Amino acid sequence: SNAFVAIVGRPNVGKSTLFNKLAGRKIAIVEDSPGVTRDRNYTRAEWLNKHFTLIDTGGIEVGSEELIPSLIKKQAQMAIETAHVIMFVVDGKEGVTLGDREIAQILRKSSKPVVLVVNKVDNSKMSENFYDFYELGFGDPIEISASVGLGIGDLLDKVVENF
Ligand code: GDP
Ligand code: MG
Repeated sequence: SNAFVAIVGRPNVGKSTLFNKLAGRKIAIVEDSPGVTRDRNYTRAEWLNKHFTLIDTGGIEVGSEELIPSLIKKQAQMAIETAHVIMFVVDGKEGVTLGDREIAQILRKSSKPVVLVVNKVDNSKMSENFYDFYELGFGDPIEISASVGLGIGDLLDKVVENF
């Protein structure tokens, strides 16, 4: 299909790690601190015979820390316009942050389906912040570990339900 799936979230939550996992190879640069990512930010992906284009919105991050709040808002807005489904990634180790709330506010205004992804849940134990993520307003979060590769099938099931 011509479906577009965008990965949205504040810096350092693991968007590029997830993107690479879903692409099946290392395309985007994974960074230990928020910053510039110049690599390609889209790839074709497939799940259960459904094909889609995946976009790592963090791939267009540029500039300093101060620019990040306005940038992530722009990215969220761009995702709303172009994507059919949005994967909204948050950090299960850090819990809900102000940046998460700001992105959530933008995404809630759109009519696009949003799948809330709690990343960095690296073992079968639930994130201790799990229930806090309901406040973002996107229903049941899907817990994953992009680096270990846990929960990816459940996530993709939920994504492709939407097209
Ligand atoms: P982005 O800024 O949202 O694209 O985040 P990155 O993919 O660049 O990852 C930011 C940091 O989080 C890197 O140090 C990653 O190795 C780490 N990271 C990403 N996914 C996971 C995960 O599932 N578990 C853990 N423990 N760390 C992760
Ligand atoms: Mg990135």
